[in-house]
Amino acid sequence: MIAYLNGSFAPLAQLQVPVLDRGFLFGDGVYEMIPVYARQPFRLAEHLRRLQHSLDAVRIANPHSEAEWTAIVGELVAQQDFADQSIYLQVTRGAAYPRNHAFPADSTPTVFLFADPLTTPSATLLAQGVAAVTQADVRWLRCNIKAISLLANVLAKQHAVDEDVAETILIRDGLMIEGSASNIFVVRDGVILAPPPSHLMLTGITYDLIIELAQQHDMPLQACEISADELRAADEVWLTSSSKEVLAIVTLDGRPVGNGVPGPIYKAMYAHYAAFKTGVMQQ
Ligand code: PMP
Repeated sequence: MIAYLNGSFAPLAQLQVPVLDRGFLFGDGVYEMIPVYARQPFRLAEHLRRLQHSLDAVRIANPHSEAEWTAIVGELVAQQDFADQSIYLQVTRGAAYPRNHAFPADSTPTVFLFADPLTTPSATLLAQGVAAVTQADVRWLRCNIKAISLLANVLAKQHAVDEDVAETILIRDGLMIEGSASNIFVVRDGVILAPPPSHLMLTGITYDLIIELAQQHDMPLQACEISADELRAADEVWLTSSSKEVLAIVTLDGRPVGNGVPGPIYKAMYAHYAAFKTGVMQQ
């Protein structure tokens, strides 16, 4: 598997970063995960825009122009021997000595990308939906930055694994925020409800696409805060992310969501998503 580190392509297993890298010492960096279908990066411009936003928020100068990023991603995609890929892209503040929380006067960002085979939900999973649990959101107040310091998300996802479910939905001050690694939509009385973007959640590239698709297809959608009680009383609950795409949550904390099966609005949205994906791949 060929990966990229600071200007060079090499087999992933051969790549190493210095132990003083601030990504390693402080979790001082940001990342993106870009899905690639049939060797075509999906929504790359949107991912690069969010990367810029994350870099700005943590005050790391973007080491590459959009054209350079596009070329690096293109080359990485071409180097793999599998067509559907999940591109992980990470920029840290780089290595610095002595260790000091404050920014070093001069450090060169570490740029690392690698590709994994993309595994999207199986037809069975799409048809059956998945289970989720809820938990208190104990993360910091800048969850809109796609930061590599993910300890709270790691613990929340492990909670899902321990509970033998697919996702942990995070609740803060009585409000449903997002999943440990996904955004959450709710359907109530035929209307799709989306928690409004804020500093408390990561606005997913998939989240934005779902909103676009709802508009395109005249599906009623409202951005509004969703309480934990409203989540539990929802007719449908979906999770979205670049790798999970759109997946119905049919069980929440051991109780059925709506009728306990993927709902009609979910099915319509998934069909729009799949058609959109196919359209992009044929371009
Ligand atoms: N929220 C969090 C916390 C995430 O980790 C992710 C996945 N990266 C998302 C939302 C969904 O984002 P996207 O649709 O861009 O994959």
